[in-house]
Amino acid sequence: MAKSPEVKLAVFGRAGVGKSALVVRFLTKRFIWEYDPTLESTYRHQAVIDDETVSMEILDTAGQEDVLQKEGHMRWGDGFILVYDITDRGSFEDVAPLKGLLDEVKRPKHVPLVLLGNKADLEHGRQVATEEGERLAADMACAFYECSACTDQVGTGGGVAEAFHELCREIRRR
Ligand code: GDP
Ligand code: MG
Repeated sequence: MAKSPEVKLAVFGRAGVGKSALVVRFLTKRFIWEYDPTLESTYRHQAVIDDETVSMEILDTAGQEDVLQKEGHMRWGDGFILVYDITDRGSFEDVAPLKGLLDEVKRPKHVPLVLLGNKADLEHGRQVATEEGERLAADMACAFYECSACTDQVGTGGGVAEAFHELCREIRRR
């Protein structure tokens, strides 16, 4: 098997969209209902993706950082998961400005990115149509997934892990 490249992933999105739940789901295959919303953590994880072992460092941001802190995290990361909550239109509207800041910080580099609409288990409370997510992802030229940290079952794509793996692939392509 090939050697083990290290990639740095950062998860961004408004507080409450489920960033911590997604990261914990990815790392442990479990759902944790309550997670300290002010906490910012980094985790290490290894996964075999397309026959290659990839070592990841994952930064779960709090989503309440000021611009300077955000820029610092963006400089640190190789790739980014931008998360919104399909039941919270405001969280969707936060995505484009985040992408704008990312482009500014990383310019002139292309920024490996995945857009993730979380809480797809809450269909009854949906405020953002799947097509809107798809359109935004097309604008940003990135992959798009709807998923649920809670059930990890519903939505387009292959669940939470697939989003993380696709981001690793996108980073490796550069
Ligand atoms: P963060 O601030 O973005 O890290 O969000 P958290 O991971 O702390 O989650 C915020 C709240 O949303 C918590 O009450 C979670 O239990 C809940 N939550 C997170 N992901 C999901 C999901 O996929 N479905 C549902 N129903 N609730 C979720
Ligand atoms: Mg959190």
